[in-house]
Amino acid sequence: MHTAYITHPVCQRHLAGAGHPECPERLSAIDDRLHAAHLYDHLYHFHHPPQATREHLLRVHDAAYVDRIFGISPAAGQVQLDPDTAMNPHSLSAALHAAGSAIEAVDEVMKGQVQNAFCAVRPPGHHAGRNHPGGFCIFNNVACAAAHALEAHGLTRLAIVDFDVHHGNGTEEIFRDDPRVLLVSTFQHPFYPHCGADTTSDHVVNVPLPAGTTGQAYREAFATRVMPALERHRPQIILLSAGFDGHREDDMAHFNLVEADYAWITEQVMAAARAHASDHIVSVLEGGYNLNALGRSVAAHIKALAGL
Ligand SMILES: [Zn+2]
Repeated sequence: MHTAYITHPVCQRHLAGAGHPECPERLSAIDDRLHAAHLYDHLYHFHHPPQATREHLLRVHDAAYVDRIFGISPAAGQVQLDPDTAMNPHSLSAALHAAGSAIEAVDEVMKGQVQNAFCAVRPPGHHAGRNHPGGFCIFNNVACAAAHALEAHGLTRLAIVDFDVHHGNGTEEIFRDDPRVLLVSTFQHPFYPHCGADTTSDHVVNVPLPAGTTGQAYREAFATRVMPALERHRPQIILLSAGFDGHREDDMAHFNLVEADYAWITEQVMAAARAHASDHIVSVLEGGYNLNALGRSVAAHIKALAGL
């Protein structure tokens, strides 16, 4: 077994409001699909990853922001962080375990326990910046994992590949001035969060794509923009902001990707990881809101990661 599957029960208890698309059923849909496809037999399980510590969070978030989130966490009911993002009494724990899962994944991969790992966590993270939540995100899970790989494991080059249909603006804000981190984000543009298309930097590769982008057009962009960037940077680990909301059945956005495209993306990243990163990949769930499409897409992603 060379693929870990990391999740925590409290990630199912965070609620952002009735009818909110970022719902606990997303993780149930993934779980159902993995059972149906008999994939669990091929995965190394971690069901109780620890919470991220304050030290972990302060590598990527301002102390005042961390204090604000701890202070605002409700004992009952719900508090709204912004129009899209809310906390219930379980959200703080869920957010800490989500970031903690991504950190645990880095530790397991770096110590050679597994080659790669998928973190089935929520709330997602890539819209959370140094001092703000955003777009359903509280703490930036993939950024916490990246900072941990740099600080605790002494890596000097890593890449974050964000294939969620939305630009990973929080992650970009956090690592904008850190050339050790290659940031690659493919996203629908113009679209929420309405930024990223004009970023120019040696280590930020943003690939804005129009509404209606097909699998073929997406693959061409990935092959010509993303792969050469990975080749140049030679990351020692590749982290994925794995969002599946570009699926054609997902009406959160307007890409026309299907499961086979997510498997293809995964295989491309695995080839880059094989060349430079000793096969090290940590994939962290971001978006994906059509429950059926999400379950099937994650199954295709994990199947590829596990080499099945
Ligand atoms: Zn998204």
